[in-house]
Amino acid sequence: MLLRHTPKEIAERSALTVNPAKTCQPIGAMYAALGIHGCLPHSHGSQGCCAYHRSTLSRHYKEPVMAATSSFTEGSSVFGGQANLVQAIDNIFSVYNPEVIAIHTTCLSETIGDDIPQIAKKALADGKIPEGKHVIHVNTPSYVGSHVTGFAGMTKSMVDYFAVSTGTKCNQVNIIPGYVEPSDMEEIRRIVEMLGVQAVLFPDTSRVLNSPQTGRHEMFPKGGVTVEALKSTGDSMATIALGRLASGPAARALDTKCKVPCEILDLPIGLRKTDVFIDTLRRIAGVSVPESLNVERGQLLDIVTDMHHCFYGKTVGLVGDPDQLISLTEFLVSIDMRPIHVLTGTPGKEFENRIREITRDVPRSVNVRAGGDMFLFHQWVKNDPVDLMMGNTYLKYIARDEDIPFIRFGFPILDRVGHSYFPTVGYRGGMRLLEKILDTLLERQDRDAPEERFELVM
Ligand code: SF4
Repeated sequence: MLLRHTPKEIAERSALTVNPAKTCQPIGAMYAALGIHGCLPHSHGSQGCCAYHRSTLSRHYKEPVMAATSSFTEGSSVFGGQANLVQAIDNIFSVYNPEVIAIHTTCLSETIGDDIPQIAKKALADGKIPEGKHVIHVNTPSYVGSHVTGFAGMTKSMVDYFAVSTGTKCNQVNIIPGYVEPSDMEEIRRIVEMLGVQAVLFPDTSRVLNSPQTGRHEMFPKGGVTVEALKSTGDSMATIALGRLASGPAARALDTKCKVPCEILDLPIGLRKTDVFIDTLRRIAGVSVPESLNVERGQLLDIVTDMHHCFYGKTVGLVGDPDQLISLTEFLVSIDMRPIHVLTGTPGKEFENRIREITRDVPRSVNVRAGGDMFLFHQWVKNDPVDLMMGNTYLKYIARDEDIPFIRFGFPILDRVGHSYFPTVGYRGGMRLLEKILDTLLERQDRDAPEERFELVM
């Protein structure tokens, strides 16, 4: 009973968060930066911040995550971190020779008010940035937003710093995959290739954070979008942004800067959202959908129809990031499950409106909260228990205390593997999600079934 002190009675809190359902902005910025080929993320703050961000990503991906830090001391905390950052830029290019240094700030450097573009200009003037190398930045104070907004900010910086319009359009589409797993980015690319569309996917952490074991450490793995490809995004005929919160700002920035029109969609989790993604891509690129994709769609639909009696009416509690939860909730409702508690730690009223709209026909009262915490979620579950919970690893404590079946979904997942190799987006991702849901529900049913109801066939 790890959380035995959580009371059932819900009291409004305005100045206290207990077990936050999010993590800090720089983690998302660092994750996005790793999706540029040959990029070293740099944390402008104290060593502790950088160690925390790296360890969270390393524990989630089970890969070594490389990043540098300005290593603030008491002096830099008082006088600012310019000297540390200029020295760091010099050291990083001399020792590690990356193509790009992607700087994100931290609470401390934001509170001091360090002006990163001005410091980068000084580093350039001092000859610390070699010819053909790049320094980009994003402001990520962690007292606002979450890892998702940090990811969105760094992705937008890729546009701000690199995208150029040469005046000649090229026959390619930009795809911004959103805050998803490397496996999801791989799956989105596979779908795009099946449609025969030429695309620039950015950021792209596949083959960076799900690299094969080769016995050799590579400081800069093979994956990631190249700087050349990022520059060319300004000449693309359109942008498809997946996930409004994580990808919307970059897509809109490309439209403003280079007049590349954008379509901002929900993440392609589940049948309908994948349909929308594929149909949008088909329409923009003027291609037709191959039979092989129709087969995958039919297979997903087949699982839904074959096993509908197992999904029907099951109540679910969800904790996670807004873009993921919007699509996941829609998917669960579409198969007649009942998401009745839906909570994200990332603030934003739009999330609550979207979930209310998606669940309006669910025949139960639905709790929704943006900017909430797991303490509140636990109270909801105590008052109205569910058949299944889905969310990041931290939910395991509530699942154990309340004896509720639990599926790990989202970020971070610190105690299981698979998420970086097997997608949850696209039709195949949908199949994987259904398999997980069925396995979990039926395991519990078998565990609890009296002998006369212990079924061989479902
Ligand atoms: S919340 Fe702020 S101080 Fe804490 S690790 Fe994140 S950036 Fe650093």
